[in-house]
Amino acid sequence: MAQSLDPATRQALLDRVRFYRDLGLTEFYRRPVDPELLHPTDEDLSVGTPEMLNQFNAEQDEPQPESAPQTFQLEEPTIPPRKPFPNAPAVAEAVPAAERAAAMQLIREELGECTRCALHTGRNKLVFGDGSPMARLMFVGEGPGADEDAQGLPFVGKAGQLLNNMITAMGLKREEVYIANVVKCRPPNNRVPEPEEGATCSPFLFRQIDVVRPEVLVALGATAATWLLGTRQPLAGLRGRVHALRGTKLIVTYHPAYLLRDPRQKKEAWADLQIAMKELGLKLPEKG
Ligand code: URA
Repeated sequence: MAQSLDPATRQALLDRVRFYRDLGLTEFYRRPVDPELLHPTDEDLSVGTPEMLNQFNAEQDEPQPESAPQTFQLEEPTIPPRKPFPNAPAVAEAVPAAERAAAMQLIREELGECTRCALHTGRNKLVFGDGSPMARLMFVGEGPGADEDAQGLPFVGKAGQLLNNMITAMGLKREEVYIANVVKCRPPNNRVPEPEEGATCSPFLFRQIDVVRPEVLVALGATAATWLLGTRQPLAGLRGRVHALRGTKLIVTYHPAYLLRDPRQKKEAWADLQIAMKELGLKLPEKG
């Protein structure tokens, strides 16, 4: 059947298949997958090699034994408890939509060539944030990685490509959402931001949140959840429900980088994103 498709349709179909697969929606593939059809490139984030793809399918289909170890809680980093959490700044007044871009620019200018914490010493580019200040949906990550540090934009590396797929699967475009991080400079070797670094930088994040005032905020991973909620809890206890935060609804899910390491959790992340979609009144995909 694939041979009868024109190349553009075939490519579009492959792209669609890959992002559903990225989200763990594998029920469409009960039959063995043609490795030729879904052979990923080196840059492809969806599932890796055809062998990994088949393994991924098998893992999805096989019932997991009750005693299967739950490793994900151990892998998600938590902030070392060195210092008490600072209080988040008071919630600012709502900014009219027409003034939000300028308000965001003011925060950027106030940050300037920031030297407030040690992270600036290893920085190439400060990663302020990206997207629409009028967004209904905002994502918060941990901090820039190497690609983000080079480009000055959040989530542009491999984890960013997966985040893009997640956004697309929600029926949105990346330009329609706003994306920022807890810290705006890359921590050395992508380590978890130190408490001092998070405490210094997060007030700027809170101000960005107050400008956008999204209807739904999604914390990507334990570091974002910890700094946004001001409480250290295992991610598992924070997922699957709606939290109230600064006049918006907060949903906690796995960090895309973690999902790349453990694709079995993509299904869980998709369930979290569907909570966000429901809150936003977005159309949920029909069950196949
Ligand atoms: N990981 C993050 O937490 N943020 C980015 O911007 C990129 C990777």
